[in-house]
Amino acid sequence: MHPHVSSLPLVALLIATLSLSGPVPDDQRWWWPLDPRPAVVRPFEAPPNPYAAGHRGIDLDAPAGAVVRVVDDGVVAFAGRVAGVEIVSVDHGSVRSTYQPVAADVVAGTRVAAGDVLGRLLLAGGHCLPRACLHLGRRHGTAYADPVELLDRAAAVRLVTPYGPPPAPPQTIEPVGPDGFVVPVDAPISSPFGMRIHPITGELRLHDGTDLAAACGTPVGSAAAGRVVAVTYVPAYGNRVVVEHGGGLVTSYNHLAAASVPTGAVVGAGSVVGTVGSTGLSTGCHLHWMALEHGRPIDPMLML
Ligand SMILES: [Zn+2]
Ligand SMILES: [Zn+2]
Repeated sequence: MHPHVSSLPLVALLIATLSLSGPVPDDQRWWWPLDPRPAVVRPFEAPPNPYAAGHRGIDLDAPAGAVVRVVDDGVVAFAGRVAGVEIVSVDHGSVRSTYQPVAADVVAGTRVAAGDVLGRLLLAGGHCLPRACLHLGRRHGTAYADPVELLDRAAAVRLVTPYGPPPAPPQTIEPVGPDGFVVPVDAPISSPFGMRIHPITGELRLHDGTDLAAACGTPVGSAAAGRVVAVTYVPAYGNRVVVEHGGGLVTSYNHLAAASVPTGAVVGAGSVVGTVGSTGLSTGCHLHWMALEHGRPIDPMLML
């Protein structure tokens, strides 16, 4: 089922509107300015008169830095800043396409062919803050028209939603199989998991992880794919990153000089989560690598 049941009337209205505009000849069709084909996160809203509020274009979902391409053959009419926003516009005969906010790789007068790079999408000056999006406009003389009519219709109707960008799918964590584990740092084991006399406190107690003797600053990779569930400082363990792998398995990376991922980050096996350090109760640079199964410490080496 479509998640936005209440948007069906809007979609129906759009379909009805589009069906009135008739087929677009192939030579007037526009290419999508972004790849992959973006979602339309805000549709065109024609102003009632040329000076009234409206939305004189469509907003396309894309990350800042995305490559922006010209929709049709033409000549760059303008590339620069207007009222603090970086804008590129391109003349295609009687039609002009506009792109904002875009850091231009082209200058006025540059001849471009459909699909040529105009520049890169900026965040500042966009219509979808705090997210980035490309505002694409279509102007005939002084009148603005809906760019969607010249783009692929089926996709546009499918993607338009008045509720902003589509929500990210829930991040369920699939348990990692036995082949999915890697050593977080390529270094010798200086102290294995198991009972030992603690080097600082002198107590006989469980050493609840594996110590890997790597130099401070060495990148530490996640042992498997998962999600970062904590980035904290714990007096005994120092700077710590905790990664959940599904199936009740959690690994942690301790005594880090620094973490390099935020809580919530999705990581792959080997993705860097921080750097080796000696923070917390530690006698020197090393990684104290821990694994917990349903909350109980296990020997991390058993996962390899
Ligand atoms: Zn816009
Ligand atoms: Zn240790």
